[in-house]
Amino acid sequence: MAATTKTCGGCLCGAVRYAVDGPMRPVVYCHCEQCRKTSGHFVAASACEPQDLDIVTSSGLRWYDSSAHAQRGFCSVCGANLFWRPSGGGHVSIMAGTIDTPTGVDAIAHIFVANASDYYELGDGLPQYADGGPDGLGEVDP
Ligand SMILES: [Zn+2]
Ligand SMILES: [Zn+2]
Repeated sequence: MAATTKTCGGCLCGAVRYAVDGPMRPVVYCHCEQCRKTSGHFVAASACEPQDLDIVTSSGLRWYDSSAHAQRGFCSVCGANLFWRPSGGGHVSIMAGTIDTPTGVDAIAHIFVANASDYYELGDGLPQYADGGPDGLGEVDP
């Protein structure tokens, strides 16, 4: 069995720290309005299976019900955006900027570009999807 490297990360102030003991999904950029409004720009998110995520320090962690079917985890001390999770279970998205470097992940696509704001251009050559993209894009590779 291959050795798994733990992925670690946290917020700016240290009141939220996590470790992931399992595979990390490649980074997807999301341009939906909810991601823009909570992050201040668009979101770059990796993801993992919920059972692989260990929130080592959670003193600052708060969950906001951003829609009827998802919650966003943020640090109530420094304001960092860290997580997105579906209320019904499934993969937990992890904001890529919070992952300690070297992250070990690469970006693969832009989603919800139909909802992108009007002050930036996407010129990195990655695939762009008007909606959430093809099935499986948001899932964690086994
Ligand atoms: Zn913090
Ligand atoms: Zn989004």
